[in-house]
Amino acid sequence: MSSIAQHLQHVQQQIAQAAGQAGRAPSSVQLLAVSKTFGPEAVAEAVAAGQRAFGENYLQEALDKIAALPALVPDTPLQWHFIGPIQSNKTRPIAEHFDWVHSVDRLKIAQRLSEQRPEELGPLNICLQVNISAEASKSGLGPEELPEVAAQVAQLPRLRLRGLMAIPAPSDEMKQQRAAFAAVRGLYEQLRAGGLAMDTLSMGMSADLEAAVAEGATIVRVGSAIFGARHYA
Ligand SMILES: *Cc1c(COP(=O)(O)O)cnc(C)c1O
Repeated sequence: MSSIAQHLQHVQQQIAQAAGQAGRAPSSVQLLAVSKTFGPEAVAEAVAAGQRAFGENYLQEALDKIAALPALVPDTPLQWHFIGPIQSNKTRPIAEHFDWVHSVDRLKIAQRLSEQRPEELGPLNICLQVNISAEASKSGLGPEELPEVAAQVAQLPRLRLRGLMAIPAPSDEMKQQRAAFAAVRGLYEQLRAGGLAMDTLSMGMSADLEAAVAEGATIVRVGSAIFGARHYA
């Protein structure tokens, strides 16, 4: 078995165990393999091990990879999720080539994605990124602006608002990790109580996925625990 296949199996076991402890079905948590900085061959290896959903942060790198994969894994539909910062002049290729966008942090970006989503594709799945740790450096909507933006994004014709995404400030403490994820879940439940039909909490990465699953994550975004340490050029 390749090391990527072994790592995937290990992460799936972590998810299943955390879900079991929380009284949740393991199948209620989707694993998104974050392949940023790794080449198409690494993605193909993960596909061979059964993985189908991949997360990417850097647009050009992602487009090259999306174009390369069909030749490496013929007749295997993959799901591509954009999870990185979005410049408003780069929305068109995102609308054209991705199935999900997790990092929508302002209405203008959502409007452009909706306008630019090709008719022949289904609606683009959207998570709004929330800034739960109130750090000036982190992107994401503040909790106070979230309800208004969510209500407007939900109206956009070519998008489907699925839920929230968050990247809390890193912590080594399970308790602190859980508190941050619980806050995200609280915002999500408030929006749902207000009438928005959403089903997705995108939270948890390699270092804190157990805490995220304990607090209700439905998608965990895991990179280094699957592909190894990243090396930036
Ligand atoms: C890189 C990245 C991840 C994966 O992080 P790991 O710590 O490698 O698991 C998840 N989400 C986002 C938004 C990222 O940029």
